[in-house]
Amino acid sequence: MFENLSDKLDRAFKVLKGQGSITEINVAETMKEIRKALLDADVNYKTAKAFTDDVRQKAIGQNVLTAVSPGQLLTKLMNDELTELMGGTAAELELKGSPTVILIAGLNGAGKTTFTGKLANYLKTQKNKKPLLVADDIYRPAAIDQLQVLGGHIGVPVYANLESKNPVAIALEGIAQAKQNGNNIVIIDTAGRLAIDEAMMQEIERVKAAVNPQEVLFVVDAMTGQDAVNTAKVFNDRLDFTGVVLTKLDGDTRGGAALSIKSVVNKPIKFIGTGEKMEALDVFHPDRMASRILGMGDVVSLVERAQQQFDEKEAAELQKKIRKNKFDFNDFYSQIQQIKKMGNMKDLMGMIPGVGKMMKDVEVSDDAFKSIEAIIQSMTPKEKENPDIINQSRRTRIAKGAGTELQEVNRLMKQFDDMRKMMKQMSNPAAMANMMRRMP
Ligand code: GDP
Repeated sequence: MFENLSDKLDRAFKVLKGQGSITEINVAETMKEIRKALLDADVNYKTAKAFTDDVRQKAIGQNVLTAVSPGQLLTKLMNDELTELMGGTAAELELKGSPTVILIAGLNGAGKTTFTGKLANYLKTQKNKKPLLVADDIYRPAAIDQLQVLGGHIGVPVYANLESKNPVAIALEGIAQAKQNGNNIVIIDTAGRLAIDEAMMQEIERVKAAVNPQEVLFVVDAMTGQDAVNTAKVFNDRLDFTGVVLTKLDGDTRGGAALSIKSVVNKPIKFIGTGEKMEALDVFHPDRMASRILGMGDVVSLVERAQQQFDEKEAAELQKKIRKNKFDFNDFYSQIQQIKKMGNMKDLMGMIPGVGKMMKDVEVSDDAFKSIEAIIQSMTPKEKENPDIINQSRRTRIAKGAGTELQEVNRLMKQFDDMRKMMKQMSNPAAMANMMRRMP
C-alpha cells in the first residue's frame, strides 16, 4: 500500500540529501515536491497545503547545527506531522454499556458486512467478548445470508428476522436477544445504498436513535480516494459517527483517504481492513502508518500480528518436538497454515523496513505455499512422521502425486533438512553458546 507516495516522498527528500543545512530555498523546493506527491496520492488540496506549510514552518525553525542531516531531520518532522494528520494516537473502541452496541454504516460494497464479521472475530479472539451480530439490511436477503455465513465461520451468533420490514424493530429485537443469551456486544450491520440516499440516511438515523449505540462506525472503501472523504463528510453530518473504518487498504490505494479523512471530518480512523479474510483487520495506529508511508516499515504491527496467531500451548509442544528432533512434515504443514492465517504475504513483507520497496514489483502470494502444500499432501502419513524414510523412489512417487518435478521435492527435502538442523542447534544451549562465541 502507498508505494507510489513513499517513492515520491523519497525523491522529494533527495533534494535535501546532499545539503548541509535547511534553508528557505531548499525547503521550499522540497515542500513543493511533497505537496505534489500528496496531491498525486489524492490527498485533499486544503489538507496538503496546510500540511506542507506546517512542515516548512517547523523545518525552518530548526537548529541546523544538530547532529542529524537535514534529510533525516525532515523525515522525522514529516513522520511527526503525518502522525498528527492521521489523528496522533490510536483511538480505542468505547466498550461500555451492557451490552455495548456498535452500529455499522456505509455505502454498499464498502465492506460493511465483511468488517462486521472481522470486528466480531477481533472482539471475540482478542478482547474475550461475546458478540452477537444483527442483520439489519431488510432490502438484500443476500446480505443476511452473507452475515450468517460469516457468523458461522467465526462462531458468532447472528440475529435475523426475515419476516420483518422494520429495521428499528429488528435492531431492538437483536439487543433483547443478546441480553437474554448473555452476549455483551451487539454489532448491527445496516443497509447501504449504491450512493448517498435520503431514505437510507433517515432509516439509519432512526435506528441510531432507538438503540443509542456506544459506537457508530462508518465503513468506507479506501480505494475511492477523495470520494471516500466526501461520503464520510455527508455521513458524519447526519450521523455524527464515532470512528472510521478504511477498507481495502491492501489494494492499490494511493493513500489519500487515510491522510485526509481525519482533518476533514475530525473523527479518528479506528480500524483498517487489509484483505478479505476474517483476520485481515488492524487497529489503526497513526504513527505506524506514517512510518509506513515514509518507507520506514512497520515492525511493531508485524510482531503484533505474529503474536496474535501464536498459540502458546502449540508452541510449547513444538519446542518439545524440536528438542527431541521429532519435528516432522505434519508440524511443517501446520506452521505454513499459521503463516497463511497472518494475512496477505506481500502486505506482511511490506511491513519489514527496506523490504517494502524491494517487493514492490514482485508477485508474492499464498500460491507460493501451494506447491509445498501439494508435496506434503502427497506424502503418506508414515512419511510425514518419518521424513528420513523418504528415499529417491518415494520422492519420485510424491512428485507425481503433487503434479510437480522431482527437483521440487528434492529442494523441499533439502530445505526441511536444513531447517531441522538449525532448529536442533538452536534448542541446544551448548551448541548455541558455541555459535555465539564464533560470531564476530
Ligand atoms: P458491504 O456491501 O458494505 O456489506 O460490503 P461487503 O462486506 O459485502 O464487501 C464488498 C466486497 O469487498 C467483498 O467482495 C469483500 O470480500 C471485499 N472486501 C471487504 N473488505 C475488504 C478488504 O479490506 N480488502 C479487500 N481486498 N477486499 C475487501
